[in-house]
Amino acid sequence: MNNRVPNKKPKLATAALCGCFGCHMSLLDIDERIFNLVELVEFDRTPFTDIKSVGYCDIGLIEGGVANTENVEVLRDFRKHCKILVAVGACAVNGGIPAMRNQFDLQDCLDEVYIDGIGVANPLIPNDPEIPLLLDKVHPIHEVVKVDYSLPGCPPSADTLWTFLNELISGQQISFPYSLIHYD
Ligand code: SF4
Repeated sequence: MNNRVPNKKPKLATAALCGCFGCHMSLLDIDERIFNLVELVEFDRTPFTDIKSVGYCDIGLIEGGVANTENVEVLRDFRKHCKILVAVGACAVNGGIPAMRNQFDLQDCLDEVYIDGIGVANPLIPNDPEIPLLLDKVHPIHEVVKVDYSLPGCPPSADTLWTFLNELISGQQISFPYSLIHYD
């Protein structure tokens, strides 16, 4: 597969599914290199732009696992609109911390949080239609859509993200030094 992005300024979109925004924060940790990134790409839907829906993009970065119906919708929308889709961080790559609930029955989780938990004053499991339905299990994103690249780590470091984006945008083969790869 030739994943070289076109010569014009590529468009970049990002989204957080069931994650903690730590992977987005890691991207911000590239510090002053953010100015270089602004030169390299045009931002579409990201927390920087506050655009709510993703347009056609060259690169989509996805943080977080797939835990509810809204996550599925956002992820499928990104897959539809992004030429290259990247799983960023442990939660997106293998379910990470959110997937720790997979060893318990969903109803038991809801009961523990909303009914039986310490300090619960008005036991009630919320069922407002505005609230996305939880899936029985949390899934890594590759179980829902095709993923082109995976960046492990909780979170992947700023240097890892920066190196990856530079290599991808310039059409180089993605090849990290071992020091930039970790699986926590
Ligand atoms: Fe947060 Fe780690 Fe998951 Fe990234 S991989 S969203 S930093 S818990």
